[in-house]
Order: sequence, then C-alpha cells, then structure tokens
Amino acid sequence: MSAHQATTSTPGERAQALLQVLKQKDLIPDGYIEHMTQLMAHQWSPENGARVVAKAWVDPQFRELLLKDGTAACAQFGYTGPQGEYIVALPDTPSVKNVIVCSLCSCTNWPVLGLPPEWYKGFEFRARLVREGRTVLRELGTELPADVIVKVWDTSAETRYLVLPVRPKGSESMDEEALRKLITKDVLIGVALPYVA
Ligand code: FE
Repeated sequence: MSAHQATTSTPGERAQALLQVLKQKDLIPDGYIEHMTQLMAHQWSPENGARVVAKAWVDPQFRELLLKDGTAACAQFGYTGPQGEYIVALPDTPSVKNVIVCSLCSCTNWPVLGLPPEWYKGFEFRARLVREGRTVLRELGTELPADVIVKVWDTSAETRYLVLPVRPKGSESMDEEALRKLITKDVLIGVALPYVA
C-alpha cells in the first residue's frame, strides 16, 4: 500500500501501532503512559481552577500574585506540570469578557482546567470565536450587553490561560468552598459566566 492510499484502521488501532513502535525503539520511559493516564483521569480537573478563582475572589494578595505570576499562584496548590508551565490569568471586568481558544489545535491549561471539551477542539469554535466572539458566546448561552468588550486570547506555544471572572452578584456572603461550586470548565475557558442560582 502506498503512503497515499487511505487506511481503514481506526484512530485507536493507529495509536496502538504507534505505541508498539515507540516501545520497540525504547522511546517511552517506563511508567510514562500510566503516569499521564493517572494525571488525566484523576488530577487534572476544573475543580483545580475553581480553587484558584475562589481564592482570588476572597484573598486580594493571592489575586495580585495570580495576575502577576499565574504559574507561581497555581503552583501554591500544586497545579503544575505538562501544559501548565507558563500560566497567565485573564481578569474579566464589568466591561471586558475574556475567552480562550487555541486556533491552531486544542491547547489548554491541563493542570488547572482539565482536558479540553470536544467543542473546544472543533474547527467551528476555533475558526469562529476569533471572528465573531460575541455571536459564538450567545450561541453557547452567554448573552453579553453590547457595551461589554469580548477579548479573545489565542493560546501560543507556551502560554496557558485561565479566565478569572468577576465575582457574581448574590455571592457576597458565600465562603470560599461555596464559591468554588460556581466555577466550571466553561467558566474557566470564558464561554460561560458564574452565577448564583
Ligand atoms: Fe493547541
């Protein structure tokens, strides 16, 4: 079969074949796959980002650090590692809504947000968010007033973002633990706003 002929193997089969070859050539350190699987399944989660945001809402000093050196602020919780080497927090204001995309592929801040949702990796979101952010947000259920500016941040090779939303109305008496529950993966990406039900 020439390199140009279509293959009928599934992505899973191709991944297994690639894994076998890499193992044969001794290119995968012992335990690497198991370690990454463990991180993805059990440690990388938007609950991590929720901790970071809730603390920034109640602790002005931590907020200052988060905005100055996001990597150091997240490291205080142990949220470091692959795709979290250079973290930048994007503060929303009443007049600015930040949203994250990776127009090239699917880069996300794994240790803080978890793995990206399917739609985040889709061509449509990646292409359209940059051109018509406000419309895409509306379609995703987030209607913004006309005077709010939508700022789209395209993930670069190094930078991994998280959105620091405005603390919502009605949350004034909530403690840090209750505030965490308002923060979802969509909120951390910036396509949704936190709200008190
Ligand atoms: Fe990417």
